[in-house]
Amino acid sequence: MKIDRTICMYCGACAGTCPTLALVLEEIRVRFIPEKCNNCGMCEMVCPVGAIDLDAEGDA
Ligand code: SF4
Ligand code: SF4
Repeated sequence: MKIDRTICMYCGACAGTCPTLALVLEEIRVRFIPEKCNNCGMCEMVCPVGAIDLDAEGDA
């Protein structure tokens, strides 16, 4: 999972849709908790700016 911080606008849609609370909207960033992610793809689908790439290497 990788979140492109240059285009993320911290709308919180990904965190709001994640069924396992693997994404947390914090004050200045979205935190990704890989242990909680079940790879459902919802966050990638709802991000309005395409900032999330689930297949990319990294821990967001
Ligand atoms: S892929 Fe699914 S479980 Fe993983 S962070 Fe995105 S919404 Fe949450
Ligand atoms: S849905 Fe996209 S733009 Fe919104 S907080 Fe998540 S990564 Fe950022």
